[in-house]
Amino acid sequence: MQTRVRFAPSPTGFLHVGGARTALFNWLFARSTGGKFLLRIEDTDRERSDPKYTADILESLSWLGLNWDEPPVYQSSRFDRYATVANELMAAHLAYRCDCKPEVLDAIRQRCQKEKRPFRYPGTCREKKEIAAPYVVRIKVPKEGATAFKDLIRGDISFQNKDLDDWVILRTDGSPTYNFSVVIDDHDQGITHVLRGDDHINNTPKQILLYQALGFEVPNFAHLPMILGTDRTKLSKRHGAASTLEYRTMGYLPQALVNFLVRLGWSYGDQEIFTVEELKRFFSLERVGKANAVFNPEKLEWISGIFMRDTPSAELASYLDQYFAVEMAFTKDVERERLEKGIAITQGKIKKIPELIAQLKCLFGEDPAYEQAGLKAEDAKKMFQVLTAVKDAVGSVSAFSKDDLDQRVRAVAAQFNEKLAPVAQAIRFAVTGGKVSPGLFEMLEVQGKQTVLRRVENAIRWLGELGGSKG
Ligand code: GLU
Repeated sequence: MQTRVRFAPSPTGFLHVGGARTALFNWLFARSTGGKFLLRIEDTDRERSDPKYTADILESLSWLGLNWDEPPVYQSSRFDRYATVANELMAAHLAYRCDCKPEVLDAIRQRCQKEKRPFRYPGTCREKKEIAAPYVVRIKVPKEGATAFKDLIRGDISFQNKDLDDWVILRTDGSPTYNFSVVIDDHDQGITHVLRGDDHINNTPKQILLYQALGFEVPNFAHLPMILGTDRTKLSKRHGAASTLEYRTMGYLPQALVNFLVRLGWSYGDQEIFTVEELKRFFSLERVGKANAVFNPEKLEWISGIFMRDTPSAELASYLDQYFAVEMAFTKDVERERLEKGIAITQGKIKKIPELIAQLKCLFGEDPAYEQAGLKAEDAKKMFQVLTAVKDAVGSVSAFSKDDLDQRVRAVAAQFNEKLAPVAQAIRFAVTGGKVSPGLFEMLEVQGKQTVLRRVENAIRWLGELGGSKG
């Protein structure tokens, strides 16, 4: 039998990373079992649902590479189906209308609270003949027995039916409740495995009783462990967890976020870094743990650095085109090959895209504006002389390769009786305006003769104006 799983978000907010983890596990389960990954937008709450959130969810999944196999199902277009099923249940005396007034139910709720026992609907309307509008529809839950299931992650779980009450399946406005529509849709979409957060464990017995009442086959259930912050409380913004697309803006690569999210609950020996192909091969529910997972932003930084380093530079260049075109506008006249080389010499030392862009800006952006801060007069003078010599030395390098440049610059150092480091530092200052850069010679090669000479000349002029030429 082909496995069919679904991700079923409610579009009442941006896709949180916890939701993205649920989507990822479903997707990997489908991909690792040759099954289908489906999407269902649970937009029954007309007030809180917003198309902008649906758009955000779809965009987030696409960015992460979690492609779905059939058109998404929207619950808002299935209200007739839910009403039909509710009518069938009522006709079979498995559900009933209830016109209990909210005030009456609230009073019972308050009494329960005072007596420290959970609220249960007392079943007032179960056998009532005359029901006046407005009314809700409730399911009849057996008062005896237990409802049990084998969770594929947590093992045997059982609930006493007496602890469940006759819950509402349709509200007074005819809209379905989550536990009702989810069962009908999972059945209609042919879902074989329900993988979701463990905050839904308590809903599962209600749903199973409904499957049974409807004569539907009960799917398998697997409840994923909770995600906690490093202080062991439920994950929230406080822990630096953001909506999925914010991670894109912050400059994480989707592969890095996927790799980080997959380890929130799943493991494969000691391996920490996985390609997507590996994940598709290795993923299995047996390797999903029961223990809560901890969301550690430092680990994400670490993973991010590894993916920055290991992603081919041409791929990074296309990624920048796709998502950071505005920030990369300064490279519009830089030839592709040069840009990719610039990325290649930079990507090993950075963790996120903004750092990459900042470095590329040093290479290809506007010529640096030099700052005097901390530069002593005698150093400025020395720099002036060194750079003047460098200008002559590199100006005659025709191939402008890093090896040739290395040779010429070393010769300048020798001429001044200096080690390479101070000379390199002067050149670095001239071509970047700062003290840190990728490897000097490969950087000069990537910048090219024209840029390097122009910047060296700029620096000489600036140092000259500073007084470096005097004495
Ligand atoms: N819409 C529900 C949620 O966002 C879906 C839960 C489920 O997967 O059954 O939590």
